[in-house]
Amino acid sequence: MSPQILTDVKQEITNLLSDLIRLDTTNPPGNETQAATYVAEYFGKEGFKTEIIESAPGRGSAITRLKGTGEKPNLLLLSHLDVVAANPNEWTVDPFAGTVKNGYVYGRGAYDMKCMTAIEMVVLKYLKKNNVHLKGDVVLAATADEESGGEEGAGYLLRTHKEKIWCPYVINEGGGLAFPSKKGYVFPIQTAEKGILWLRVKAKGTPGHGSTPNTADNAVMRMNKVVDILGNYKAKTMYVPTLRKFLDEMGKHDPEISEIFSRLLANPMRSEQILDELAKKDKALAEEIRPRTKMTIAPTMIHGGVKENIIPSDCEAVFDCRILPGQDANATFDLIKNLLKDVGLEKLSFEFIQKHDGSESTTKTPLYETITSVLKEFGPNCGITPTLTTGGTDSRFFREAGSICYGYQPMIPDEPNDQLEKRMHGIDERITIENLVYGTSILYETVKRFMS
Ligand SMILES: [Zn+2]
Repeated sequence: MSPQILTDVKQEITNLLSDLIRLDTTNPPGNETQAATYVAEYFGKEGFKTEIIESAPGRGSAITRLKGTGEKPNLLLLSHLDVVAANPNEWTVDPFAGTVKNGYVYGRGAYDMKCMTAIEMVVLKYLKKNNVHLKGDVVLAATADEESGGEEGAGYLLRTHKEKIWCPYVINEGGGLAFPSKKGYVFPIQTAEKGILWLRVKAKGTPGHGSTPNTADNAVMRMNKVVDILGNYKAKTMYVPTLRKFLDEMGKHDPEISEIFSRLLANPMRSEQILDELAKKDKALAEEIRPRTKMTIAPTMIHGGVKENIIPSDCEAVFDCRILPGQDANATFDLIKNLLKDVGLEKLSFEFIQKHDGSESTTKTPLYETITSVLKEFGPNCGITPTLTTGGTDSRFFREAGSICYGYQPMIPDEPNDQLEKRMHGIDERITIENLVYGTSILYETVKRFMS
């Protein structure tokens, strides 16, 4: 069977994405219901029933189900409808105009991730239109709130309407953008993501006059120690199964780095030095891998003091801590407190802003097998590797609820990957129409084969 590029969907998928971008769903505040309504209207014309569920007024998610015979487990095609803010002054086009230009669709959400909402919509429509015999339900969910943590979107739906959305298998964002390598493209499938611990630390002191510093206890000085200790902390290296497979697979596709990767795998204790060595050859790659080998802590906000001549008695800072799958958020918090015991824990207080464990799905599943064989048919020389992402997606809610989740949106890069990734929450976000058609074709084939 030869793979088929669905060239016929080109106009439809382009229009869909462009329309979705024009519905401004910047989160906050979100206003995703307008986009969920658009999804419902599109499916309404095709004879589907779509349910819109709001976690709060305007915060709607759309769920559409295509029934199967029940012989196979159900599959969820997940995406989020909200986007991050865009400053029009920095862009060359209006970020919310859905501009189609030179083979691209431009706009906030073009890549993250209204493109996948559009792709999944077309896939579901054609499964029905072509009367594909589905042995399980294929459910499409386009949800609110992912960019603010997902509690009002995927999290809410799983808490309150689990029977409508939960599936044993989930396809979502987070992977699929091919890495160019010496031996062809390698497609990373996101099978794991780091957990998040956003911690607010408050340092207490005693106020005094700025001209007599020794009579007071300066909270900014105390926080300075906290920032220094946590910001410079080097956690222990730990390779999760996904990272091991990633290094192994990437090595196979690039003889030049395979030697470095084997050493990295064999010597976790020397990972920092080996990554420094890799950075001299390929800085982008080394800095992609480094945070995947350990827990990281980044100070991201700091605020203290009220006046030029008052010794501050309060200072607060926020730390963005990312933990590996398998590391426990509470144990990490204990470690942080232990690191700070010499600063004086009695003068510090802690508050969690967000706390999520990391998550990991096995690759030993029939869906991963199907993904692998479909990708190989579309690109006979390509490689496929599981990947661990440092950022979080809504997959974490589903993995917590027992689903197998894969970040799988196959795309061929049209510019260097690091540049492409910068557009995601950055300036002039865009996607090639070719990639929209390519992504639709591969996802259609994958779902059809997996479910029939
Ligand atoms: Zn996203």
